[in-house]
Amino acid sequence: MRIAVIGGGLGGLTAARALVGAGFDAHVLEASPRPGGVIGTSSVDGFVREHAASSFLGGAAHGALALCEALGVPVEQASPRAKRRWIFLDGKLRALPSNPLQLVRSDLLTWRGKLDLLREPFREARAGTDESVHAFAARRFGAEAARAIVAPFVTGVFAADAHDVSLAAGFPRLAALDAQGGIARGLLKQAAKGVVRKVTGKGAASGPRGMFAPRGGLGTLIDRLAGELGDRVHTHRRIGELAATERGVRVDGEAWDAAVLAIPAEDAIGLVPTLPAVAMRLAAFHRAPAAQVYLGFAADQVPLAGDGFGFLVAQGEDLRVLGVVFESTVWPDRAPAGQVLVRCIFGGSRDPDAAGLDDAMLIAQATRDVGIALGARGVPTHASVVRWSRGIAQYPVGHRDHVRAAVAAARSHRIVLAGADYRGPGVNDLCADGDVIVEELRSWT
Ligand SMILES: Cc1cc2nc3c(=O)[nH]c(=O)nc-3n(C[C@H](O)[C@H](O)[C@H](O)COP(=O)(O)OP(=O)(O)OC[C@H]3O[C@@H](n4cnc5c(N)ncnc54)[C@H](O)[C@@H]3O)c2cc1C
Repeated sequence: MRIAVIGGGLGGLTAARALVGAGFDAHVLEASPRPGGVIGTSSVDGFVREHAASSFLGGAAHGALALCEALGVPVEQASPRAKRRWIFLDGKLRALPSNPLQLVRSDLLTWRGKLDLLREPFREARAGTDESVHAFAARRFGAEAARAIVAPFVTGVFAADAHDVSLAAGFPRLAALDAQGGIARGLLKQAAKGVVRKVTGKGAASGPRGMFAPRGGLGTLIDRLAGELGDRVHTHRRIGELAATERGVRVDGEAWDAAVLAIPAEDAIGLVPTLPAVAMRLAAFHRAPAAQVYLGFAADQVPLAGDGFGFLVAQGEDLRVLGVVFESTVWPDRAPAGQVLVRCIFGGSRDPDAAGLDDAMLIAQATRDVGIALGARGVPTHASVVRWSRGIAQYPVGHRDHVRAAVAAARSHRIVLAGADYRGPGVNDLCADGDVIVEELRSWT
């Protein structure tokens, strides 16, 4: 089968790679001069900037780590100095506890909040209809932990309000643990299985844990993926129309056996005016805009940025930034010697207007916010902005039902939906999604 993969972001590239590996004749049609979509890495004044995703977790069976290994992309693990995570809550940075002892000592929750959290294992399991992450967190951990810990964490992934994110679609592992009796119990069971596996050598190993990135940035993974696909990647090919034929599809007039639609759903709507049922289903998906401000400082201007991964901002604080990543602490070679690089993320569905501010306003806001949270002094040595109007895929309550309906509508016209809008927005999700797309196409033949 000759397959047109429309869109050469990570979703399109991993789909095409999986299809070619399974014997399909797949070609990527990408509008811009370079593949990768929002993902890319650039170097300015010796500061290495990630344009979107910067890392992924190990431990996923068909995730990015496995793909990097298959492509021969060298990876590095996040620095041990990046272990600590911070939450900006009630006007100051507070360390996120990573074990029960730290929780007892933490100033992130009151005693009442801590006791509420510790009651989690004794609360009833719940499975069934979807709910928001906030509803889940308040029910299992108590209102304080929901606000102080879970909501900022949700912002870190979706740049969204936790009330607006589906537990089942956004955090399926938590939903599964909830259904099986609770989070603490489930984690204990998993830890026990790990010990048994270590002692007996039986059971599937899940690969190395921790946070990883390709050496030199995620742009390296895109380059290798596109390099492997070679002349199957066609850049400067903005597709204007996708139509159905009796035995396949037509892409800008050219006949193909099927199409993989791997562009943001909101853009895809305009491609299918002759397929109103598909267009109607695609309207359920949305990507929130995001703007990132990169600030460089002399290391002694901002000593706190040398300790930890970064911080997330709880809702209702006097900072506009959603979160800040201490890039050069996580990946030490991303700033010139004696300098640090921080990445400040604005916008998302929590504050979409912020992503529309002009560069000077965003840089001023980021400098102010970093000054308040980290005590950064003086003028940054570097400041630049990267922004995306279609930034971060949003998964509201009911998302999985929307995906099922959209996939079925597309299938009836020999179209497969791919990319961040559907089965997971993260790098690991998109790497694993290629197999799902192959299965979908095989199921038609
Ligand atoms: C700021 C930010 C930070 C992130 N951080 C992380 C992280 O740390 N870890 C993580 O796992 N994930 C992260 N993500 C999420 C992840 O990077 C994205 O979800 C993912 O890269 C999206 O890939 P995609 O292929 O679905 O879409 P895109 O990257 O948007 O690619 C779509 C492609 O389609 C092309 N296109 C559009 N219209 C047409 C057309 N008509 N014809 C042809 N081509 C077209 C576009 O040019 C683009 O190349 C982050 C995202 C953002 C925005």
